[in-house]
Amino acid sequence: MSYNIAIDGPAGAGKSTIARRVAKKLGFIYVDTGAMYRAIALYMLENKLEEEAMIAKAVEDVNVKIVYEDGEQQVLLNDKNVSGLIRTEEVGKMASCVAKVGAVREQLLDLQRALAKTENVIMDGRDIGTHVLPNADLKIYLTASSRERANRRYKELTEKGVACDLAVIEQDIIARDHQDMNRAIAPLKQAEDAVLVDSSDMSIEEVVDAIIAAFKEKC
Ligand code: C5P
Repeated sequence: MSYNIAIDGPAGAGKSTIARRVAKKLGFIYVDTGAMYRAIALYMLENKLEEEAMIAKAVEDVNVKIVYEDGEQQVLLNDKNVSGLIRTEEVGKMASCVAKVGAVREQLLDLQRALAKTENVIMDGRDIGTHVLPNADLKIYLTASSRERANRRYKELTEKGVACDLAVIEQDIIARDHQDMNRAIAPLKQAEDAVLVDSSDMSIEEVVDAIIAAFKEKC
């Protein structure tokens, strides 16, 4: 039997950083499902496909695979490693658009469930606790205010030397949240049995410790 931890929440809440650290401490595999949507988004951007119907048709030609190298998830798009190419704002926005398409979600659902079946995983995304792993041993809904999430993103980008505008970043975050929370299929929402963690005033270590404590209490 394998243990499954689900972490859902809005863009920029720190899910991947936190999940990666929790995975390391517990010896679990970290599964980043957003990266799978991003890989499909990259394909659609490269092939200039924007309409929902075109995306639904084209996804039949897309093969997303997940492999692990030194414990780090790598995403293969039609056998090409695109892990480095999918981290842009443009791909993130497009991912939120392709994620509305039923055919895209269906394709990724099987892949996500298969990963969780045989391994101890901590999986992050938008619909993990509500849809992908409804029987997860622990569900976390990780959030923070849009201002705090924008501040973190702004800091990250400026440290990399990327010119950016805090107000624009916050607007983009709010728009992406709205799109993810209001789509017809598997929208982002807190599962009834999820533990709510608001990280606005918490450090990364505090959040990691809170999740590990919640896991130890439940499992
Ligand atoms: O988490 P990340 O920003 O990489 O996710 C990109 C987009 O993929 C999200 O804005 C969301 O629209 C979509 N997504 C999803 N369901 C998931 C993971 C991501 O719809 N489980």
